[in-house]
Amino acid sequence: MRFASLGSGSQGNALVVECGGTRVLLDCGFGAREIGFRLERLGLEPSDLAAVVVTHEHSDHIAGAFKFARRAGIRVFLTHGTLQGFPGGRGERPQVVPIDSHASFAVDGVEIRPYPVPHDAREPVQFVFSDGSSRLGVLTDTGASTPHIEATLSGCDALVLECNHDRGMLEAGDYPAQLKRRVAGRFGHLDNEQAGALLAALDRSRLKHVVAAHLSQANNRPHLARQALAAAMGCAETWIQVATQNEGFHWLEI
Ligand SMILES: [Zn+2]
Ligand SMILES: [Zn+2]
Repeated sequence: MRFASLGSGSQGNALVVECGGTRVLLDCGFGAREIGFRLERLGLEPSDLAAVVVTHEHSDHIAGAFKFARRAGIRVFLTHGTLQGFPGGRGERPQVVPIDSHASFAVDGVEIRPYPVPHDAREPVQFVFSDGSSRLGVLTDTGASTPHIEATLSGCDALVLECNHDRGMLEAGDYPAQLKRRVAGRFGHLDNEQAGALLAALDRSRLKHVVAAHLSQANNRPHLARQALAAAMGCAETWIQVATQNEGFHWLEI
C-alpha cells in the first residue's frame, strides 16, 4: 500500500491512501476544483477515488468533501456527529454512509479503523488504514493523547502525526489569548513535544515512515517538528518527513 498528502495544515487537509487498486481520500479540506489540481500532481483524477472518509466537521477537513464526492459519484463516510456539525451538508448531498467511531469498515480492499480523539468537534475520529498486512496510522486534530490512541497506533508501519505548534512560539505569538487557550487546550491540537511523547509511548518496531503533519504556519517550523519526532524515534532528523500546506508529500510506500 502507499499514501500521499495533497496538503496539510489549517488551510486544508487531504490524504490519498491506496491499497491494491483502491484509493480513498481522507479529508477534503480544499475546494472541489483545487482538489482536482492537487490530484493531478499525483497522476490521479477524481474518478480514480473510491470514497471520501472525513475525520470531523472543521472546514480544513470537510470544506470540499460533499461537492467533490457528488461530482465524482462516490460515497462519503463520516460519523453522525460530523454530519450534524456540517451546515454545508444540508444541501445537495452525495451518498453519505454513517460510521460508528469504534467499528472498522472496508472500502473494497482498504480496511479502515476509526478511533475517537479529544478535539473540539461534535464526534471527531481519526483512522488507521490497512491492506490486511501493513497499517498506516493517521492522527491530527487531537488536543491530547489517550491510552486508546496509543493502543490503536502501536505497531503501525507508517504514521502521519500532528505536530501543530511549538508551545513557546504559540505563547509568544500574536494569536488572541482565547485562541491560544483553545489551540493548546485538551480539545485543541498536539504540540511538537506532545507528539514526540506520544510517539515515544508507541511500539515503533515496524515503522518505515513518520510524517509530521498539520503544522501551524504561524506557530511552528518544520525543523522543530522534525527535532521532536527524531528525538522520540532516536533517528536522524532527516528521516522524519514533514507534510506541507501547499505540497503535502509525495507517495510513500509501506
Ligand atoms: Zn485541522
Ligand atoms: Zn479540527
